[in-house]
Amino acid sequence: MFNALIVEKDDEGKTSASVQQIGEDRLPDGEVTVAVEYSTVNYKDGLCLGPGGGLVRNYPHIPGIDFAGTVESSDDPRYKAGDKVVLTGWRVGEAHWGGYSQKARVKADWLVPLPDGLDAKQAMAVGTAGFTAMLSVMALEDHGLTPGNGPVLVTGAAGGVGSVATAILANLGYEVAAVTGRPETEDYLKSLGATQIVPRAELNETTKRPLEGETWSGCVDAVGGEMLARVLGQMKYGASVAAVGLAGGAKLPATVIPFLLRGVNLLGIDSVMQPYDNRLRAWERVAKDLPMDKLEAMIQPATLSDLPQLGEDILKGQVKGRVLVDVN
Ligand code: NDP
Repeated sequence: MFNALIVEKDDEGKTSASVQQIGEDRLPDGEVTVAVEYSTVNYKDGLCLGPGGGLVRNYPHIPGIDFAGTVESSDDPRYKAGDKVVLTGWRVGEAHWGGYSQKARVKADWLVPLPDGLDAKQAMAVGTAGFTAMLSVMALEDHGLTPGNGPVLVTGAAGGVGSVATAILANLGYEVAAVTGRPETEDYLKSLGATQIVPRAELNETTKRPLEGETWSGCVDAVGGEMLARVLGQMKYGASVAAVGLAGGAKLPATVIPFLLRGVNLLGIDSVMQPYDNRLRAWERVAKDLPMDKLEAMIQPATLSDLPQLGEDILKGQVKGRVLVDVN
């Protein structure tokens, strides 16, 4: 028997989450059984822990869109007992049972071996949010971003994606301008390497001008909505924005003018269906380019029983940095 955080739905459609003991026979089909060590809390987890989102189809459900741990048994030649692995995406924790459990059974295709230099705890301190921040930086680099061309903007900076993006970019030698709606996080963001703090209110105000002064050499955007629309008009000529999130809204009330007159690029970033080779590359880059002392400063520790509250907090934008869930 082992512990898992199980979400159940009653006859009236109301969901409730509680830590329960279950047997291995209840785990879904899959080639690899993993002894989970750590998971984390992402925005999607907030939805899956509560009633919202429409992401979960079947109940009872075990959420947790990512986890890291040790292979316990494997029917797939790529993995053997004792291997250290990490999983993000593939709708695990949504359509499939996820990481809020001491054991998980998944498809071998969904796993990635932990790169040298990263243990299970560090991998989940990074989590889907940090992995996606790395994918964003890689996409910006692939489109010509190099240090020394002016500040790179990070929106939703005190959140998970934003914190990791800030630390990676600063470590790579970029000047980082961090947008936050929480002035009390200024010292934290500067400790991660931000050199400029931009109050959220400055970019939330809409403007009728499709183009403003050319200010940012790149942008990792976790917010979307009006802020993304505004930022597009402030990008330098030929610069790129990595669109990662929708913490501020899914609409994009923009004009095409920044694309046509300034050659601005809007790059979509998806972590869920990312091909295996790029996953490997991203995790290796995380191990190399994210300073571990900075990662340590982002961690808020938690256990399975803290998850229902943390799910509510992340939906309200109240989580700072990265939540690290020790499932044992
Ligand atoms: P967090 O909640 O940790 O961070 C989001 C941050 O956005 C908040 O901390 C806050 O930062 C800011 N924010 C919140 N609400 C608003 C608002 N109304 N207007 C402006 N800013 C706001 O979430 P994550 O970092 O884990 O994820 C960020 C986004 O990225 C989410 O939308 C998530 O769904 C998405 N995502 C997408 C992935 C993909 O594959 N494309 C993968 C992972 C995440 P501050 O307080 O500093 O202002």
